[in-house]
Amino acid sequence: MVTLSPHHPQALLLSLPLGFAAKCLPSDSTCFPSQDEFNALSKSLPTADVIYPGLSRYKAWSDAISLHNQRLDSDHIPHCAVRAQSEEDVILVVKFCSENNLLLSIKSTGHCYSGNCVQQDSFLLDMSLMNDLSLNADGESITLQPGSNFDALYALNEESGTQSVGGMCGTVGPVGFSLGGGHGPLIRSYGLGTDQILSVDLVTAAGKLISVSKSSDPDLFWALQGGGGGSFGVVTSITLRTHPAPSSLTSYVCNYPLSLSIDYEVGDSGVATVGSWWSDVMPNLPNEWTFFSVLLPAPIPLEQNIPEYDKNTMQGLLSLEGLFNGDYSSAVESLGLQGLLDLDVDRQMSCKFENHTSLKTWHDSRWFGKTPVPTRNYMSTSFAQKNFDGKNLAKVAVNAILNTDNTMSSFFGIQTGGAVNSASDTDTAISSAFRNSDMLMEIDANWILKSNDDAQTAWTHGVGLDVAALDDIAGAYVNEPDPNLDDWEDMFWGANFQRLQEIKSAVDPTAFFECWQCVHA
Ligand SMILES: Cc1cc2nc3c(=O)[nH]c(=O)nc-3n(C[C@H](O)[C@H](O)[C@H](O)COP(=O)(O)OP(=O)(O)OC[C@H]3O[C@@H](n4cnc5c(N)ncnc54)[C@H](O)[C@@H]3O)c2cc1C
Repeated sequence: MVTLSPHHPQALLLSLPLGFAAKCLPSDSTCFPSQDEFNALSKSLPTADVIYPGLSRYKAWSDAISLHNQRLDSDHIPHCAVRAQSEEDVILVVKFCSENNLLLSIKSTGHCYSGNCVQQDSFLLDMSLMNDLSLNADGESITLQPGSNFDALYALNEESGTQSVGGMCGTVGPVGFSLGGGHGPLIRSYGLGTDQILSVDLVTAAGKLISVSKSSDPDLFWALQGGGGGSFGVVTSITLRTHPAPSSLTSYVCNYPLSLSIDYEVGDSGVATVGSWWSDVMPNLPNEWTFFSVLLPAPIPLEQNIPEYDKNTMQGLLSLEGLFNGDYSSAVESLGLQGLLDLDVDRQMSCKFENHTSLKTWHDSRWFGKTPVPTRNYMSTSFAQKNFDGKNLAKVAVNAILNTDNTMSSFFGIQTGGAVNSASDTDTAISSAFRNSDMLMEIDANWILKSNDDAQTAWTHGVGLDVAALDDIAGAYVNEPDPNLDDWEDMFWGANFQRLQEIKSAVDPTAFFECWQCVHA
């Protein structure tokens, strides 16, 4: 069983770690504002009001506090919420919370894995209703409000003949994604989501709306490129670089069985296939390709149609899902040259190339492009460094998947490298572990019943530790964190954490913005 880390949000309220300020919570009547004061704030907001738990505004309240991860439902209940619809709403809420020393939560689309976007007993600023996005007059950038999402962005890209670096899940928002890193199907062509940021409009701890770019404030801009959400201000919009779209994109999918065998390292267990893919083929692919190595205990019902899959002899699946940012003939040629088309030919199942007119059509056709069904979830991530030993990693990954009884668990390897490696370790706040990686690994458990929380949490946390213990595996992804990770500052940011702390002290000297696993002074 995973014990509550002393830094977990619930523990945070009881004992504050170094760098966190004591906030005034609703239980403390000596400092907490009166209801009259909350009512006065509500009246002053131009386009919103303050709402509370209860039946009178049930739908608004439940939408405001809803989180993608159902595991967090019971202990992430704020005291009150404002569903902001204008920058002025945001400014007034920040000033009220700052003057009264209240714990503020900032939520955009609510995909935060650890629940730090809706903190217990906080004042919640829900940004999801601010969801406009538009192509700028230069035709080379798009400005988005935090409640928008990748479904909307990819639709705008399709209309405008542009491409943007976004995520795999259409419901996820661009702000938290870009501030923390941002991986997706085009990162090897163009770099991480964070590398696309041109400017950020945000409300500071002093309640001032500022526009931050590399030229206007290089330090704060550096911190916003990888420092994660929640620490430096409330983002009201973000402007991201776009790229001209090619006339077509090509995808390749190929599946291989994973099977239990007496000596699972040899024979047809799948370890040899996975290891060879990771060590011998994947690192040599051109930057136009981004591949996802998905290990699953079984094909996903109604999603993955693999007639060759025989559940009597096969106990798992390696699904290779690749997108080539270019035309069909170059895609086929490059996979042939690098040997993927010949990898374990006898064990290949339902392999096929497809042509797509846009990123949107590819995205909408894939199982991970569908709206995810909210479940209880726990995630652990780490980065495989250049020249990692794919065969050793394959033993741990295949073993974990073959030995879970949860068919909604997965090991999801996102190929990095390519343009992700183009920036230096200190150009942005992204850690060197992420910058120099060849693959981001997500160990992901999803389940329905609360009674399975301990077992599923322990499985994910345990596999995460096994992977992290291997040579040439380092760091963790701030946007997809294990909430019980020790040493998370070092895991998320490595040597860049110190500069992040200095910038945090300078721009938020009273530590007004505070959340679990966020940059602190
Ligand atoms: C189903 C699913 C799929 C995902 N797919 C991907 C993927 O393909 N690639 C990837 O890189 N990541 C992915 N993620 C992780 C995703 O990047 C993070 O959850 C990200 O933080 C979401 O951003 P958001 O704007 O919705 O912020 P939220 O999830 O609402 O909040 C995340 C953090 O940012 C802070 N924050 C939110 N809004 C603001 C704001 N306006 N100003 C300042 N701080 C703010 C919050 O306080 C919190 O700390 C996925 C997550 C889920 C649950």
